[in-house]
Amino acid sequence: MSRTSGASTNRTRYAIALGSNRRHGRYGAPADVLRAAITAMADAGLTMEACAPILHSVAIGPGGRGFANSAAIVSAPLDPPALLAALKRIERAFGRRRGQRWGARVIDLDIVLWSGGRWPAGPRRAAAGRLAVPHIQMRRRDFVLIPLARIAAEWREPWNGRSVRQLLGQSGRRYL
Ligand code: ATP
Ligand code: CA
Ligand code: CA
Repeated sequence: MSRTSGASTNRTRYAIALGSNRRHGRYGAPADVLRAAITAMADAGLTMEACAPILHSVAIGPGGRGFANSAAIVSAPLDPPALLAALKRIERAFGRRRGQRWGARVIDLDIVLWSGGRWPAGPRRAAAGRLAVPHIQMRRRDFVLIPLARIAAEWREPWNGRSVRQLLGQSGRRYL
């Protein structure tokens, strides 16, 4: 199934995390890459409901590159695998290649939360490397939680019902 059906179709909402730590030949610095990715998501038919301010993180270690991170709330008549396929098409269009995990990457678009609770539904866990929503690392990543708290502070994760604001408090950082 690639499209959700029924009256709630267009109200399927997603929180997307955006990250970049490499310049793009056309779009420029990482923050500009994120802005271009927001435009590309809208062009792909996603309804953009909110965009967080861009968070700049300093590089860690010699030769490290600073990251730009942000978050967006989108709605689309797509289930999570279909949305992930759309996000991967955008990543490829921006020149991201396989094997850019953890290293320099021009754009990373992850699904953090969706309005349907857990994906896959029910008690079974996603197999390693397969799509899981919420994103398994979201609770531990300030670079995800800080931007997201600016646009969806009260959105609750389906594991324990903690809001983004609460998760950020538990991660030990001051709420921005
Ligand atoms: P991380 O998952 O730690 O943020 P990454 O984003 O660098 O790492 P990628 O190489 O972009 O990792 O993606 C690896 C795989 O993760 C993707 O092929 C995708 O199937 C899977 N994945 C699982 N859950 C998600 C999710 N919620 N959003 C995006 N991709 C996911
Ligand atoms: Ca990621
Ligand atoms: Ca990713």
